[in-house]
Amino acid sequence: MHRTREVIVVGGGLIGSLVAFTLRQAGADVLVLDADRRGVAWRAAAGLLTPDGERLRGPLHVAALESLRRWPALVAQLERSGVPVSFRAGVARMQPGGGVQTTPGEGSLHPPSVVRAARQALEVVTEHVHALVPGGCGMRVRTAAGDWRAQRVVLAAGAWSGAFGVPVTAQRGQALLLRDVPDVGARYGPPARGFSRYALSRPDGLYIGATSSRSESVTPDPRAACWLRGVARRIVPEANGADVAAHLVGLRPVTPDGLPLVAPHPTLPGVFVATGHGRHGALLAPVTAARIVGLMEQGVSA
Ligand SMILES: Cc1cc2nc3c(=O)[nH]c(=O)nc-3n(C[C@H](O)[C@H](O)[C@H](O)COP(=O)(O)OP(=O)(O)OC[C@H]3O[C@@H](n4cnc5c(N)ncnc54)[C@H](O)[C@@H]3O)c2cc1C
Repeated sequence: MHRTREVIVVGGGLIGSLVAFTLRQAGADVLVLDADRRGVAWRAAAGLLTPDGERLRGPLHVAALESLRRWPALVAQLERSGVPVSFRAGVARMQPGGGVQTTPGEGSLHPPSVVRAARQALEVVTEHVHALVPGGCGMRVRTAAGDWRAQRVVLAAGAWSGAFGVPVTAQRGQALLLRDVPDVGARYGPPARGFSRYALSRPDGLYIGATSSRSESVTPDPRAACWLRGVARRIVPEANGADVAAHLVGLRPVTPDGLPLVAPHPTLPGVFVATGHGRHGALLAPVTAARIVGLMEQGVSA
């Protein structure tokens, strides 16, 4: 049995690593357990921070604007870990008539660098968590290598959170990374059949995104690659013929009502849930992290 931790975060993806990082900044003793699964969303995510581009409405739009406002300061804190986080302001929107409108208030970042920087500042152990079991004055966090104990647990297992009694399923998203294309910044094309079509230059190549389907398969689909090539031709003609550096596949965690689940666990006392961010986890992570810290400070629990 390991020593009791103040907080264990189950899942060190975009949400879990930023929740843990924010808790750590607030002085908590935090451990992250991450299963290093195939198909995690953070490795496939574009990193667009675009409340307006994603046509968010109501409280989600308000939360997204607040999160966007928090990102620059959070990037500065993350970079103190020594890992650079690529963050850029400005997104160009292609108009149906052919013009381009730029929204300087929006931006983009490179999700893998965010996770790497946060993890650098944290204690992270590669473990697959199988169950959360109430016991004594806290929770037992069950893994193949034995039980860990924590006073409180944050469940941030992304698309796999449904295994822990919350209504979360997977929505598959695919994207291409193209090699050796000149820097074009971040561009949104006009939406097609409800899909967002966009391109952005990142440190690892030109990212072209993204598909969306109800599937848990993490195998790249050649039809998706073909559709994404079409998006590239339309939005970045200069990328025509560029080599594919990677075909990315990630599972977005989604809830029945499409809203993130950031709350005490419905049945497990001392467990807080931070999942279900769907297409907006990179955008919403700062606000979610702050909300979890707030819930813990208030001592709110199921
Ligand atoms: C193609 C694509 C494009 C996207 N583009 C954007 C974008 O431009 N902007 C934006 O805001 N969002 C975007 N997203 C959405 C964003 O990636 C997700 O909302 C976000 O990653 C969700 O974060 P998460 O931590 O909940 O899940 P994940 O990032 O998937 O991380 C979950 C973590 O939990 C771990 N885990 C799972 N099960 C267990 C277990 N049992 N025990 C321990 N660890 C476990 C996994 O190993 C993983 O590291 C995109 C997603 C995709 C797929």
